Amino acid sequence: MRKTTPAIFLDHGNPMNTLEHNAWTDGWSAIGREIPKPKAVLAVSAHWYVPYTSVTAMPKPRTIHDFGGFPRQLYEVKYPAPAAPDLAARMQNLLAPISVGLDMRWGLDHGTWSVLFHVFPHADVPVIQLSIDNTQPASFHYETGKRLAPFRDEGVLIIGSGNLVHNLHAYAWGQRHMEPFDWAVQFEDRVRELLLAHEDVPLIEYEELGSDGMLSVPTPDHYLPLLYVIALRRNHEQVSFPIKGFDGGSISMLAVKIG
Ligand code: ZN
Repeated sequence: MRKTTPAIFLDHGNPMNTLEHNAWTDGWSAIGREIPKPKAVLAVSAHWYVPYTSVTAMPKPRTIHDFGGFPRQLYEVKYPAPAAPDLAARMQNLLAPISVGLDMRWGLDHGTWSVLFHVFPHADVPVIQLSIDNTQPASFHYETGKRLAPFRDEGVLIIGSGNLVHNLHAYAWGQRHMEPFDWAVQFEDRVRELLLAHEDVPLIEYEELGSDGMLSVPTPDHYLPLLYVIALRRNHEQVSFPIKGFDGGSISMLAVKIG
């Protein structure tokens, strides 16, 4: 019997990571080498944060360069992974009665491809993306994540791509090795404690985690992909943090691996 495929939350951080080799990109590459090659990837990216639930269903998703002000080289990056329209179609049943649109226009945004560029550099694993419905509360995203569980038994790697701590107002552009802010470290430590204790409720109700949380999660988009991943944890499963560190003082690069 096939072993259950892990589910992983990856902090994607600065899009320039795509072109760099650093401790985080080395960590992403190592994950790709160490896990069994999946049948497909289902990615929940912070950057497809829209007022509906849709899944990409086109056969050849385009590479979306959804950012501004970066070097030309980054706009030339293509991640030509095939899609998995059959899996996309099944999402409609799996998530019912949530209405799931089959999207033909989006593609892969940088939340997905900037990390997969290192995890699966040959772009040979089919990839679909699930949008984050920005009209719904955090509990909706956790419950939606739970419904994706059957995919883990079929060799589908579920990736949430965001950043546990993501405060761009405090981000030190050009000083990426700056010491992290106290509130950022404290919030990340608290989340790690809760994950190790398998206490999901405070993580769903993250807005109650105090001022460290308010500074670390000023908007929900980069945090919510974590809830899809932790919802997939089964009772006996380990949680681990294969990648750690902070970028520019206010962006956590923590990876959370389930299984
Ligand atoms: Zn981002």
